[in-house]
Amino acid sequence: SDHRLEYPRSPDSMDWSKFYPKHFDSEQGQMNKKVEIADIGCGYGGLLINLAKEFPQLLCLGMEIRVQVTQYVEDRIIALREKYAKDKISNYQNIAVLRGNAMKFLPNFFEKGQLLKMFFCFPDPHFKQRKHKARIITNTLLSEYAYVLKEGGVVYTITDVEDLHNWMVQHLNDHPLFKRLDENWEKQDKCVELMWNSTEEGQKVTRNKGSKWIACYERLPTPEDC
Ligand code: SAM
Repeated sequence: SDHRLEYPRSPDSMDWSKFYPKHFDSEQGQMNKKVEIADIGCGYGGLLINLAKEFPQLLCLGMEIRVQVTQYVEDRIIALREKYAKDKISNYQNIAVLRGNAMKFLPNFFEKGQLLKMFFCFPDPHFKQRKHKARIITNTLLSEYAYVLKEGGVVYTITDVEDLHNWMVQHLNDHPLFKRLDENWEKQDKCVELMWNSTEEGQKVTRNKGSKWIACYERLPTPEDC
């Protein structure tokens, strides 16, 4: 249950300094960077940790609803920050995890057009018909994701459940602000490789020799009359 979760009133009122202390400019009294990559339902944080090295200049945030899982990721990041404090490529100061329900109040956390990439890796399938509205990709939620994404930004999805893949593709195809990226694009994109290999759920699917389905979508420019 998430009835005790706290949400900022607006992105301005969010205090990111405790998440990314090394990116807080104490002289200016503000952050010197904003979150630009979000891993929605990040689970145990495998993707996040790989993103830290791939995008050392960008702030990445994992959002996770389960308390213990969030705590686990937090501890993992603290340990990495200590271990790699002097590392030249990444000292893991650019990744953090936030406990929250990504299906609620995302625009309270992120400004319009703030995000470059949003990942939805192995989201919960909610198999039963009456549970479909609980899925993390719906028309209403896609409009929120489009709002927080920059034009040209990318939504990444991967799942081992074919029915859920078809559902996500159908909803994204139907949405006027998203356009699917083709297989050639997928082949050359580093993040596709990372989400295929680096999440804990993805590794489990590989061990069990299961299938994985991917769909990536570009955030289109908002039409003038919107
Ligand atoms: N992405 C991870 C991976 O690939 O290993 C975790 C996949 S796991 C099957 C789905 C995760 O999404 C769970 O950790 C669950 O707690 C989280 N989750 C489900 N609904 C959520 C929501 N509304 N907001 C944030 N996290 C959510």
